[in-house]
Amino acid sequence: MTYRLLISLIFAGVLLCAPVFVTAQDNTTSDTLPELTIHVVQRGESLFRIALSYGMTVQELAELNGILDVSNLQVGQRLLVPSADSAFAIPQSHTVQPGETLSSIAELYNVEITMLIELNNLPNANQIYPGQELMIVGDIEPTLAETPDIALNPNSAQSVTIPDNGLPTLSTNLHTVQSGETLYRIALQYGLTVPELASANSITDSTRIFVGQQLIIPNANNTPEAALDLPRPIVGLDVKPLIFIEGETGFISLNTEIAATVTGQFLGRDLRSIPLDDNTQHLMFIPIPLFTDEGIYPISFNLSNSDGTQITFAFNMRVAAGGYGIQNLDMSAELQRLLVPAVQEEELNIIQRITSEVTLERYFDGAFSIPAAAAMNGEYGTRRSYNSGPVNGVHSGADFAAAPNAPIFAAASGQVVLADTLNIRGNTVVINHGWGIFTLYAHQNALNVSVGDIVTTGQIVGFAGSTGRITGPHLHWEVWVNGVPVNPLQWTQQIFP
Ligand SMILES: [Zn+2]
Repeated sequence: MTYRLLISLIFAGVLLCAPVFVTAQDNTTSDTLPELTIHVVQRGESLFRIALSYGMTVQELAELNGILDVSNLQVGQRLLVPSADSAFAIPQSHTVQPGETLSSIAELYNVEITMLIELNNLPNANQIYPGQELMIVGDIEPTLAETPDIALNPNSAQSVTIPDNGLPTLSTNLHTVQSGETLYRIALQYGLTVPELASANSITDSTRIFVGQQLIIPNANNTPEAALDLPRPIVGLDVKPLIFIEGETGFISLNTEIAATVTGQFLGRDLRSIPLDDNTQHLMFIPIPLFTDEGIYPISFNLSNSDGTQITFAFNMRVAAGGYGIQNLDMSAELQRLLVPAVQEEELNIIQRITSEVTLERYFDGAFSIPAAAAMNGEYGTRRSYNSGPVNGVHSGADFAAAPNAPIFAAASGQVVLADTLNIRGNTVVINHGWGIFTLYAHQNALNVSVGDIVTTGQIVGFAGSTGRITGPHLHWEVWVNGVPVNPLQWTQQIFP
């Protein structure tokens, strides 16, 4: 039975609503009837694209929905389409995985690269990045490709359109948040973790989702295994999260089948590789500095291999905005004196120099502990203006409302590399946790450790106070990765290997 005939039967059945019609069909026919579901038309969609998504022709879709004018489609309009479970539903979206190329993805789905480029509105075959949702339509009837919608939709020069945010609106891979749902519940429903779902949607605060919000569901059920396309001797590539976030820490692990030395570059900075397993595993912690513009950036690696060969390897990473707020601080003239750029720069240079060291020994294990038994009262990443002046500062750490002389605890094990008085941060302790990771504890009344001390998680490093440039007693806590201050809370929530 042809698809067109099936559609005609359903359409006739809907129109006639005649039970006798249904019972008149033989069993083999009714078993193969496609189940139908509703597709809500999204901004940027054309009937051509929707038809393509569901493996139908424009005529079939129009007929099924009684549409006479195929160029007149309204956003929010509800269309009958074959359900995802039906044998006729071919559309899928594919979340690009690290190590995949457009060519390997095309091969996986048995489609043409040019089709993927056109369908996803890509500038060229190299413009894909991990975490990107690509629309895939396989096994297209040859006649469909010869049916340009330009003839049907004369006002549209480009048949396949993508909304402004660059993300496809394929309904099968979007979840619209319902009243009473939490990110946790939604993640559970799709077999994802909260961080996976949050990072796919650039959500920094998992408590802030709203009813009606459309969430991208990465690695949906219909996504097959990754189509890795890695150059030898690379045999494994892990990237976390798939989309990097401004102000946070990214992580990349490369596995090689022979020993190798790995160097690399991202955002104009050298990557620092931690070699493990006789130089066959290479870990890289990648800080994304605050104020990094949202966008797609190349990341490149150079491998010097033990067999004498050298290779370069590169792909794109997307950086999403951190979504940090803006805050005004009132400061006395005395404290403002310390805002002089030279004073700030001098102090930053000291901390940057210390935190750019990479110790190959790792002291930390698991997620970091909160460094004070107090509520957080200042978020990392907040842009700052002073005395209602221009926004020219940023909060490089997280603040805790620790009472004067309350104990301050080491967030993880490590070695004390600074225990001194700084102009802005006051009495400060810096702990080296190894692998280029450091924590900093500022504004203390008194210090309880000295440079060179080995400390363990929870050990008291000092006592809270209000030394340095400060408007009231609190603990200012920073995490530095390879010389860049990053969101400390990420390290309390996420376990890096
Ligand atoms: Zn602070």
